[in-house]
Amino acid sequence: MNLIFLGAPGAGKGTQAEVVTKKLNIPAISTGNILREAVKNGTAQGIEAKKYMDSGELVPDEVVIGILKDRISQDDCKKGFVLDGFPRTVAQAEALENMGIKIDKVVEIYVSDEDIIERLSGRRVSEISGVSYHIKYKPPKVEGICDVTGEKLIQRDDDKPETVLHRLKTYHEKTAPLKDFYQKQGKLVTVIGQEKVADTTKLTFEAIGI
Ligand code: ADP
Repeated sequence: MNLIFLGAPGAGKGTQAEVVTKKLNIPAISTGNILREAVKNGTAQGIEAKKYMDSGELVPDEVVIGILKDRISQDDCKKGFVLDGFPRTVAQAEALENMGIKIDKVVEIYVSDEDIIERLSGRRVSEISGVSYHIKYKPPKVEGICDVTGEKLIQRDDDKPETVLHRLKTYHEKTAPLKDFYQKQGKLVTVIGQEKVADTTKLTFEAIGI
């Protein structure tokens, strides 16, 4: 099964993508995680991408499309994958089609802007595993520490309040039009993001039919 998760920053795409990939035993591809890894490693691509990421802008299409192409051509994607955070523009969705990739379903996780702002301000992430937590809604077992790696959790630079507002604006302008794009293809299913992760997961599984 080839799936796309769509939604505003902080809507819970990454969290649900993780659960679904575990259940289906297929990889999750997060362009955000790949870009953050490049930033951390100080690659030329990472240095270029950081400027956009820190200000809440999208990284240029040609850069992310190149990253996605490389990742999706790897062997572990042959039996299916979940895309988390890609496509984010109509041009990226068209690039997927031009690669000959068939998408089965597009799951939109809907959360109001007001709730998004609260969620992102409480989000903490593990830099090594890429796993994210929320101080209130999805706390780690030990405060401030990643359950998986045991490292200290951090707040992403782009989760700072002024950047969050800009990311939301970017989402509405550039990414939300994708809902129409996939609705027309009959692939869009919408899940209303719940306060508890497990409740959203239940609705997500139902929407995908797994
Ligand atoms: P979130 O969904 O919480 O905003 P991501 O981890 O998906 O976070 O992305 C973080 C940042 O990485 C984005 O704000 C953007 O700058 C960049 N990025 C990630 N994926 C894409 C993409 N498909 N196209 C353009 N930029 C991207």
